[in-house]
Amino acid sequence: MKNLFRHWDNLEKELSNKYIMLFLDYDGTLTPIVSTPEKAFISREVKELLIGLSKSPKCKLAIISGRALKDIKNIIGLKNIIYSGNHGLEIEGPKIKFEPLVSPKYRMILRHIKNNLQQKISYIRGAFVEDKGFSLSLHYRLVDKKQIPQIKTIFHETVISYLVCNKIKIKPGKMVLEIRPPIKWDKGRVVLWLLTRQIFAAQKGMVFPIYIGDDATDEDAFKALKNKGLTIFVGKPKESYAQYYLKNPKEVVGFLRRISEI
Ligand SMILES: [Mg+2]
Repeated sequence: MKNLFRHWDNLEKELSNKYIMLFLDYDGTLTPIVSTPEKAFISREVKELLIGLSKSPKCKLAIISGRALKDIKNIIGLKNIIYSGNHGLEIEGPKIKFEPLVSPKYRMILRHIKNNLQQKISYIRGAFVEDKGFSLSLHYRLVDKKQIPQIKTIFHETVISYLVCNKIKIKPGKMVLEIRPPIKWDKGRVVLWLLTRQIFAAQKGMVFPIYIGDDATDEDAFKALKNKGLTIFVGKPKESYAQYYLKNPKEVVGFLRRISEI
């Protein structure tokens, strides 16, 4: 994994004559990770940069978040860009409306798991379940370290019977465990879906994708875009499908500024 700024001169040349499709994760990418999801505000600086990029004729902007679509749209607050929520399960944008096919049975199971989890974790301080419609998240960032194994045990005991018969899928993230529908759809697939759509819509043939993200679920997108565009991991360099890294959301802001000035 290479430091992006160290290779900027070459990259700038490469990007200068391209139509860019910019895919951005939100939490941990455009804003630092915070203790509870509702505390993540978008800074004025980031918002202004995004407004600029959304108006640029050389760039198309898509926010790809793990949050519910409604939630991420509210936070970013920009019209005329593409949003994907729930790690790709929901997509919305100019002339785009997409929702996954999930069965009423899945929704029933999700409700059942939610009630069970809420009941079982009620005595563990700091743990809470977020209902995102198509998915559930069990957050434990605020839980005492000693109780984390207990949280994980409760989670696995609650979901195991559905998991073994493929009624649900689970996906771990940063201090969060997620329950998702048992379909092959993730941030990687949504990025390829949007990219293909864009190539047809733009009729340019050449759309250069850039993806920036910080978490395990972003790896699907890094993998999908391998050898197709620019993939950037946010955080300390580690084993990843991404080609480059930026250290933190502050460096992401610096990168977006450079992109908007090309
Ligand atoms: Mg993230």
